[in-house]
Amino acid sequence: MQKSKLWIGTSWKMNKTLAEAREYADTVAAAVEDDAGLTRSVEAFVIPSHTAIATVAERLGRWANTVGGFRVGAQNAHWQDSGAWTGEVSMPQIKDAGATMVEIGHSERRTHFHETVETTRFKVESALRHGLVPLLCIGEPAETRDRGHTCSYILAQARGALAGLQRQELAQVLIAYEPRWAIGALGRPARGEELAGPFAALRSEYGGVVAGLLYGGSVTLDNMPDLLALEDVDGLFVGRAAWHAEDFVELLRAGS
Ligand code: PEP
Repeated sequence: MQKSKLWIGTSWKMNKTLAEAREYADTVAAAVEDDAGLTRSVEAFVIPSHTAIATVAERLGRWANTVGGFRVGAQNAHWQDSGAWTGEVSMPQIKDAGATMVEIGHSERRTHFHETVETTRFKVESALRHGLVPLLCIGEPAETRDRGHTCSYILAQARGALAGLQRQELAQVLIAYEPRWAIGALGRPARGEELAGPFAALRSEYGGVVAGLLYGGSVTLDNMPDLLALEDVDGLFVGRAAWHAEDFVELLRAGS
């Protein structure tokens, strides 16, 4: 199905040296130079480790903030602008490095770093205050799915993180539904029938309100057409399958 605006992006998680980041971004930039149609109907984004944001932004940032352009993001940032938060990086700092978006509430951050609904709300507010697009990740564990509580669980995560925002602020937000059981090497992609309910719930509350509703979790070039055929899915958030630049270019091509 042809979507009016399709988001396709990747987070590298804790991977890639600067040299690898440079090579990746140069390869993607060359592919876009070669074929301007590559991102004509795709809003593409790359979310490297903090250390590589500036490097990637230098190479892909020239297409930033254009329709069908590239955004570069950060995988996390603190909600305070500065201060005694050793080891943390702030929204102004990631923006200074070239980020225009920021991932918030990825399940690995919730699981391993005890990120809460409250801290996701602080981070969304801070991102918006600094003109960054918050990419809010939500998703339930397998036990919650098995008990049939997926929709209430993910709506509570979204409502908590987005509480109190004005309509024009919500219009900047992207929501990525990433079931925990679908992410990473131990996960499996969600099937269409498993996504229909959660996306209908998100659509009824946030459809036409946020900038887009994305799916993430074991996306590949092979399952991409079926996922994009789902009416409520505005884009895909890809991990492993986009960690080679050539594969990311293929995903963009398939989405264009
Ligand atoms: C993720 O961790 O957010 C993700 C989508 O990873 P993968 O595509 O590798 O499952």
